[in-house]
Amino acid sequence: MFQEDTVIHIINTIHEMQAYANRSMGRKKSIAFVPTMGFLHEGHLVLMREGRKRADILVVSIFVNPAQFAAGEDFDSYPRNLDRDLDLARKEKADVVFTPDRTHLYDDGFQTYVNLQKLPNHLCGISRPIFFQGVATVVTKLFNIVKPTVAIFGQKDYQQLAVIKRMVRDLNFDIEIIGVPTVREQDGLAMSSRNSYLTPEERPAAFSLFKSLNTAQRLCNEGIQDADQIIHQATAIIHSHKNTEIDYISICDPDTLEEVKTITNPVLMALAVKVGKTRLIDNMIVTP
Ligand code: AMP
Repeated sequence: MFQEDTVIHIINTIHEMQAYANRSMGRKKSIAFVPTMGFLHEGHLVLMREGRKRADILVVSIFVNPAQFAAGEDFDSYPRNLDRDLDLARKEKADVVFTPDRTHLYDDGFQTYVNLQKLPNHLCGISRPIFFQGVATVVTKLFNIVKPTVAIFGQKDYQQLAVIKRMVRDLNFDIEIIGVPTVREQDGLAMSSRNSYLTPEERPAAFSLFKSLNTAQRLCNEGIQDADQIIHQATAIIHSHKNTEIDYISICDPDTLEEVKTITNPVLMALAVKVGKTRLIDNMIVTP
């Protein structure tokens, strides 16, 4: 039905995915892997293009992972549109879209989780205590199923990328982890599947995350080194919009995510803000 270059395999079962990976390895074909929760946007597509360049075969997974959502979070309402996602993956020449069923990945007896000791104790891990356990566990499972040589993640989820890199090192996965810079809307808002929750009235407030990051860099350029002073200014920018609730604004060490008080080296500035009902995150490396 499709032209040869647009053939895409849609795989739903773990067994079939592992068999495909084993066949690929037998044929000496390397696999690049892009894990996603679907409702794809340009940010995901850039990851796919990076993967496409780095291996013979590109596998994209679409799985809204229940293990990383706490009760009361948006698991049920998380945006989903598989047909549209498949079209986009096809256009990016993905070879496989892996869409496992929730009950296949987590059966009734499931009881093994991957936990990191330190990195999750900062930033998003404070208000979302099970989030990184859920992420590390599902990524481990997906790595064992897809068997990639390289996996691509977005720097938009900076802490997640740090957790995966550390986990891969700690558990000796033979997989190269690549981080791709954040893809933004024209106004600077970091692309996210959750942006679809935003009303037009909420867009200026959503944009204030990026604005506050740029302001931080400007203040650093002016010689300000006091992190609290910068966080104070960023807070004012965000609070100048109604319906915003700051979860955290942090200036921290880019490797350990420990807070930094005086900026003498490049630091990570990261923030999470609720705009109306939508929780948004963003980050930037700020240099003195
Ligand atoms: P998600 O579907 O939100 O779980 O994201 C799947 C992957 O896409 C993760 O590695 C994210 O960091 C990455 N990603 C999401 N949004 C962006 C973006 N705006 N720019 C770059 N990567 C992104």
